[in-house]
Amino acid sequence: MMNVIEFFRNLPKKKCSKCGNEMIEKADCYGNLCDDCDHPAR
Ligand SMILES: [Zn+2]
Repeated sequence: MMNVIEFFRNLPKKKCSKCGNEMIEKADCYGNLCDDCDHPAR
């Protein structure tokens, strides 16, 4: 049985297309922007 941490480590990480920060994949589709770049106030 595979370790849960190993499982998540093997998942491809999404990167923000603007700042390049790795981000946790969300259920909602925000495109490729992290929370900071996607923030409407910025
Ligand atoms: Zn960003």
